[in-house]
Amino acid sequence: MRPPLLDPLFAAVSVLSGVGPKSALLFDRLLTPPGSAARIIDLLFHLPNEVIDRRDRPKIIDAKIGKQVVLDVRVTEHRPPGGRYSKGPYRVHVEDDTGDVQLVFFMANVSWIEKSLPVGARRFVSGRLELYDGYRQIVHPDRVLDAESVQKLAPVEPVYGATEGLQSRAIARAVEAALQRVPQGIPEWLDPTFVTAQNFADFAGALDAIHHPVGPTAIAPESAAYTRLAYDELLSQQLALRLVRARMRRAAGRTSEASGKLIEKIKAALPFSLTNAQRDALAEIRADLASDKRMLRLLQGDVGSGKTLVALMAMAHIVEGGSQAAMMAPTEILARQHFARIAPLAETAGLRVALLTGRDKPAERKRTLEGLAAGEIDIAVGTHALIEEGVAFRDLALAIVDEQHRFGVHQRLALGDKGEAADILVMTATPIPRTLVLTYFGDMDVSSLTEKPAGRQPIDTRAVPVERIGEVIEAIGRAMQSGARIYWVCPLVEESETSDLAAATERHADLVRIFGDRVGLVHGRKKGADKDAAMAAFQSGDTQILVATTVIEVGVDVPEATVMVIEHAERFGLAQLHQLRGRVGRGDARSSCLLLYKGPLNETAKARLETLRETEDGFRIAEMDLKLRGEGEVLGTRQSGAPGFRIARLDVHAHLLGAARDDAELILRNDPDLQSERGEALRVLLYLFERDEAVRLLRSG
Ligand code: ADP
Ligand code: MG
Repeated sequence: MRPPLLDPLFAAVSVLSGVGPKSALLFDRLLTPPGSAARIIDLLFHLPNEVIDRRDRPKIIDAKIGKQVVLDVRVTEHRPPGGRYSKGPYRVHVEDDTGDVQLVFFMANVSWIEKSLPVGARRFVSGRLELYDGYRQIVHPDRVLDAESVQKLAPVEPVYGATEGLQSRAIARAVEAALQRVPQGIPEWLDPTFVTAQNFADFAGALDAIHHPVGPTAIAPESAAYTRLAYDELLSQQLALRLVRARMRRAAGRTSEASGKLIEKIKAALPFSLTNAQRDALAEIRADLASDKRMLRLLQGDVGSGKTLVALMAMAHIVEGGSQAAMMAPTEILARQHFARIAPLAETAGLRVALLTGRDKPAERKRTLEGLAAGEIDIAVGTHALIEEGVAFRDLALAIVDEQHRFGVHQRLALGDKGEAADILVMTATPIPRTLVLTYFGDMDVSSLTEKPAGRQPIDTRAVPVERIGEVIEAIGRAMQSGARIYWVCPLVEESETSDLAAATERHADLVRIFGDRVGLVHGRKKGADKDAAMAAFQSGDTQILVATTVIEVGVDVPEATVMVIEHAERFGLAQLHQLRGRVGRGDARSSCLLLYKGPLNETAKARLETLRETEDGFRIAEMDLKLRGEGEVLGTRQSGAPGFRIARLDVHAHLLGAARDDAELILRNDPDLQSERGEALRVLLYLFERDEAVRLLRSG
């Protein structure tokens, strides 16, 4: 139970005065994943990303493009839209003695413009300076003031990331109201000497400081206020990880003995031999399974490095020992695919495998559940359906979670909880730098598949400007004549599922016009059965092009596919591009990847595409990604909504991680159930960052 002290922070933003039902929806859209309502805490954690500093009034020539500026200008000319019914914007030209700027108003309120910006008047204009067609412009300045009223403005104003229909200023007003609701008397959970040494304010004070910046540096991630909040978040996360770990260790492990004869049977059925990396990983896993310590291991390896096979062999070990194993995948497609690949091999070794997903027919489901409970099924492969209440195993000894960063700690636990001290193996396809392993997975043991199976050809990767899409389509037509299979990925547009869909649907229609019924389509909105049908048609070669949104990122395996086209490659994170590219180059034929981009590219985008052209080494790509974009992109959390950090940025705050880890360790060593006074305060911290699950794991939770 969350302490009542925090209730005001978890109230919906709609309770704030000035936030009506309509703007509440906009706050939901801005602050929370689809389907959940924004709360005051979400608003308070929405930190400003820049400030308008009115103390500094640059001359036009010195003002930075892309930044919020306040310009001291004279109005020189009005340019209403041309022609009586033209829909163009209303433009007002202003200048100082160094240059000129156009103020641009769409759907202009003409009488307001005429009144506020009379020709010849001196005005202070605030807004984001942009360069368009070689002209400096400010679209919809957020303030137009005369010399007198500019005096009354706060000298520094925070600017918030906004969304259509919800401007930074409205957000600032809501934040102001939210700050009023921060309860008095939130206990201090940090060590007082640390607080003093770091020059930290208390939690409420830090929030206040960052939302009332005294200058540009006050909102920087390096500022004391930001650092405090980041540290709080890291500490809560490290505590939660340790509590989970402690709880898992508390349940003594079990020993699963197996001679390896089932594994040998599977090996004998393979047309290839294991890579050294696979052999090592399997040996590490089997040692864990055999020991009485509870296994908590991360198996990481690039796409196509052969994790699934290692997982299957681990499960075979368990089954030989007389128990059951389960493997949970984040999506239906992936679960089916795992099943399709695992089942035939498993059956050669006499293992009985069943698939359990949310789409099973009732009779089928009933049969599966009975089989699991009776121990007539050895291996269950499935989705979240596996952790639902009615699912029981006779004796689950190994829980494998194919994580892809889409499951959280509690789902891992939930699958493990279906057994008695079941060993846990987490698989991830995005190689993660060591710092991030610790951060996201805690002190798990790690096995890495650093080597690809032999015989894989390098993927010929090229970046192509979208203007040359015609050539790309021609080349694809030629490749199709020789039987090639092609993925064509359309990106997430503006993080909105609808426009995302529109882009893919449109591209699909284009390609159908050219290539007829050889073109299939799969996206997140398609019904399960339709999705399967589209995948199956591509798998069998009935369709040769599969147009897809990023749903295919998650693990589909069509070894015959040799061409990957990624549209708007500049919009994807490096790790995601790498994942997508990993869909080709899985067979022994030569593959290529075409990164269609729309220029001009900024430096980061350039570096990303360059890195991708240079290397296929997922570990190197992950390190580079961390450098370029910070941890959110490395883990793809921004897309997937998986547990990430809301405040801390590992590109800036990585150095705090070690301290938070040590802090958490010391705290729990002295007070394992958080019962001291500081322990109580730390519980508040855990609730504040919504680590409720961790609190429930406390013995007296
Ligand atoms: P991951 O799960 O790591 O993406 P998979 O286990 O799906 O990788 O393996 C990708 C493909 O490589 C599969 O078709 C699999 O049969 C094949 N494969 C796995 N291990 C080897 C190996 N040692 N040699 C050749 N091919 C392999
Ligand atoms: Mg796999």
